[in-house]
Formats: sequence, C-alpha cells, structure tokens
Amino acid sequence: MTEKKEKTEKVEDPIIFYCKDCEEVAETHRVGNKYVYKCKKCGTKNVAFGTKKSIYTFFRLDDKDVKKDEKAETKPEEKKGEEKK
Ligand SMILES: [Zn+2]
Repeated sequence: MTEKKEKTEKVEDPIIFYCKDCEEVAETHRVGNKYVYKCKKCGTKNVAFGTKKSIYTFFRLDDKDVKKDEKAETKPEEKKGEEKK
C-alpha cells in the first residue's frame, strides 16, 4: 500500500459559500461590514453560507464531491443474531 501522507489537515467542518444562481460552491466578496456576500462569479448576493456539511446536505451536493465516508454515521443495521438471551 502506498501511504501517502500529504498534510491532510483535518478541517472539521469549514464554512463554505454556495451561490444559488451559479448553483455551485462559489467564492464570494463580503459586502461592506454586513453579513452579506456576493458571488465573485455572477455578482449576485444570492449566496448561502454555512458549514460544508450543512450546505452539501441542504443543496444535495454530496453526490458530487463529498466522499461517502463522511456520512458513514448511519449504522447499517443493528446486529441481529448476537442478540440471544
Ligand atoms: Zn454566482
């Protein structure tokens, strides 16, 4: 096995921005000192932001980039069989 250990900084749940017009995760400008963000690409303020997890879940992007093990939280099934009494 090749053990590639490339500085995998584990950013737990970074904040990302999602442009609803571009329908993708976008870079943004912050407008003034308000919590308003403008999409760098199309220039609208139609930008949602939140943790990566929540954005991906909400806009259902998870099939694209996010690896499956990020949602490995759901346990398959409870062990049957061993449940003898
Ligand atoms: Zn945009």
